[in-house]
Amino acid sequence: MSHTQNSILVGSIQKFSIEDGPGIRTTVFLKGCPLRCRWCHNPELIDPRQQLIQLPNSCIGCGCCVRACPRGAVSMDPEEGVVIDRDKCDVCLVCADQCYAQSLRPVAKPMTIEEILRIAEQDKGFYDNTKGGITVSGGELLLHAEFVSGLIDEAGKRGISVCLDTCGFGDPEALMELSRKENVTDILYDMKSIDDEVHRKYTGVSNRLIIDNLRMLAADGKTADKLIMRMPLIGGVNDSDDIIRRTGALCAEIGVKRVNLLPYHSLGISKKRNVGGTQEEFEQPSEERISEIEIYLKHEINLQVGVLGRA
Ligand code: SF4
Ligand code: SF4
Repeated sequence: MSHTQNSILVGSIQKFSIEDGPGIRTTVFLKGCPLRCRWCHNPELIDPRQQLIQLPNSCIGCGCCVRACPRGAVSMDPEEGVVIDRDKCDVCLVCADQCYAQSLRPVAKPMTIEEILRIAEQDKGFYDNTKGGITVSGGELLLHAEFVSGLIDEAGKRGISVCLDTCGFGDPEALMELSRKENVTDILYDMKSIDDEVHRKYTGVSNRLIIDNLRMLAADGKTADKLIMRMPLIGGVNDSDDIIRRTGALCAEIGVKRVNLLPYHSLGISKKRNVGGTQEEFEQPSEERISEIEIYLKHEINLQVGVLGRA
């Protein structure tokens, strides 16, 4: 658990989200994650530290960044435009201050609980009418459990409910403490792969702690009904019959009743490039395969199944 902190790095705050829990929600994306999912949709939020992000389409070619950088890390290539040498860059953000076009920017902004809630509170009327609220996402909230605990409590005082979006890879006590809070109404709980070998290969960590934590929440009277399993569907990685059957069997065994499927999309590739890295491209399962999985989980396992990101 992190030390008590006044502010936290927030990648973005997305208003009017309708796929991050019930109703209309404001989703707060925190920076920092212990997993390294190779298909990550928000790769700019993996590193817990501040980063410089480059949005090349906004660049007007003024050259201010080249002149401003105290470390000589920025150059102008006739073909590629502004090039950042990430080995030289120490993320001082001087170039971002000088970039009028905001083509260079910090990935995240330090924000206090009060600042986050001031934005979230603007939509309280929508939450009240739709059973919505705030969703804390990331990155991974368990890296910032103490801050998130304070955020949930303060939201509760203002009559706002909270949905947690977690990968489940973190301290069980912290997870339980956050999950049991009364104004936490839903827990979006990621299941990348029930097969540990696949999990290790594609996320960098074992799924054992994640499954243990899921079992713990499913066995607790105060948290069981809040659970919604979230499964990214990556073609050829975790959409096999074997993995789907074993996932369904686990839900049936421990009593998870709701599952959301998230078919892969490739938006992470450009985001990763913009913070100075590369991400490989995966395959989205076909519509037929997604429907097969949906029908299987609905009719064979009796789960409530949602498919997110569908047009
Ligand atoms: S963040 Fe600082 S060191 Fe990095 S490119 Fe910008 S000015 Fe240079
Ligand atoms: S300061 Fe911004 S707009 Fe100007 S060249 Fe650099 S990145 Fe492009």
